[in-house]
Amino acid sequence: MPEYTWICDGCTYHLTKSMSITKYNPKEKVYCPNCGIETRRKIEQVGLSFGKGFFRDGYESAKNVRTQTDGDS
Ligand SMILES: [Zn+2]
Repeated sequence: MPEYTWICDGCTYHLTKSMSITKYNPKEKVYCPNCGIETRRKIEQVGLSFGKGFFRDGYESAKNVRTQTDGDS
């Protein structure tokens, strides 16, 4: 499930929500719980879900390679 992050310009509060893409509404306004002002989306955070999957796959591959290398030596 992708994570969405909003950042408050007033207090730099980071609000992260995990929700399905179908439930995510980009027009929904998110307000800072500290200041009550409208936060802005941190766009880069969307790619993190893909990054996690990529990292996990890369880690599994790397682990397999290292295990084989250790077995040979
Ligand atoms: Zn704030």
